[in-house]
Amino acid sequence: MQFSEAQRIKNLPPYLFARIEQLIAQKKAAGVDVISLGIGDPDLPTPEHIIEELSREARNPANHQYPSSVGMLEYRQAVAGWYKRRFGVELDPRTEVVTLIGSKEGIAHLPWCYLDPGDPVLVPDPGYPVYAGSSILAGAVPYYMKLRPEKGFLPDFADIPAEVAKKAKVMFLNYPNNPTGAVAEEAFFSEAIAFAKEFAILVCHDAAYTEVAFDGYRPISFLQVPGAREVGIEFGSLSKTFNMTGWRIGWAVGNTFAVEALGRLKSNIDSGQFNAIQKAAIAGLEGPLDSLKEVNEIYRQRRDMLVDGLNSLGWRLEKPKATFYVWAPVPAGYTSASFAEALLEKAGVVITPGTGYGAAGEGYFRMSLTVPTGRLKEAIARIKSNIGPVRF
Ligand SMILES: *Cc1c(COP(=O)(O)O)cnc(C)c1O
Repeated sequence: MQFSEAQRIKNLPPYLFARIEQLIAQKKAAGVDVISLGIGDPDLPTPEHIIEELSREARNPANHQYPSSVGMLEYRQAVAGWYKRRFGVELDPRTEVVTLIGSKEGIAHLPWCYLDPGDPVLVPDPGYPVYAGSSILAGAVPYYMKLRPEKGFLPDFADIPAEVAKKAKVMFLNYPNNPTGAVAEEAFFSEAIAFAKEFAILVCHDAAYTEVAFDGYRPISFLQVPGAREVGIEFGSLSKTFNMTGWRIGWAVGNTFAVEALGRLKSNIDSGQFNAIQKAAIAGLEGPLDSLKEVNEIYRQRRDMLVDGLNSLGWRLEKPKATFYVWAPVPAGYTSASFAEALLEKAGVVITPGTGYGAAGEGYFRMSLTVPTGRLKEAIARIKSNIGPVRF
């Protein structure tokens, strides 16, 4: 029997990557050697000392019972320690840190804490699809802040109509940015804080990529900026930093009221993350960080190969300073969708069309650096022989 779905899920677009995975499976079943640059999921393993700690802690019966929904104090202390060492930011682990089952979980639940049906929510376009999706589930109405190349893919707050700003209660931001690879500096965050104060908006900064950066560049935390914790929280995660996307462990830090509200909501929904995983995450946050340098060097080599390769075919891309994404315009004569289709059909290369991240992603596509250089070289060779030189 097929049951009639609730309106809130009927309004929800299918999750972008679920569809891409389906397409890849179809091509593979047809015998195509697919090169997938579509999904941003690190291909390198979690560092050994973190895995060791999990295996040890998994054997401890004390960890087999329900965890706390807001997380172990010890883990929250480790997150506070990380913020102190990495960003020079002091956090109270009891009131300013909540454990998340991956940052996506917190991002998806946050709108339930602050958005009533019909409330506008400020969402970057293009942007990580969870901001709009979770807001729509809560009944809120996304107002899309366009990220334009001439503004460095930062939203222009002057574009937001006063009547929207007055009613909006939440704004999502994400730097280093998925999908554009753009970065933000203190001046931009200061502007965001001033805007948020003026209109009483909670800034939710998604900082999943602060540790994936190149050429000596060190992304900042939103919370480093004066006034940030009065108006904002920051979502963080071990997923991209330590190649732990499968482990599901992250945090939200900052504004005490928002941290408490998210914890209260979570206590009604989940029972927290497995303590052994939190213990292993502590080993990551407090342990040796050599793997970060090594992994970033691998991404840098891939980035250079991919960007130089595309530029040799007619693109004029700059190398992103952070994230493992390359965001590129589609050649003349294509839309995002038709270019993605042409690449898959003619070259067996999967990319994500920019429109998967919002209407403003039209004219762009995203490639992920989570495959070995040999495969990137092969992808460039296939684009060269099957798509040919391009114009813009
Ligand atoms: C990968 C990613 C996340 C989060 O990941 P979790 O695994 O849920 O911690 C959050 N935001 C963006 C923009 C991402 O790309």
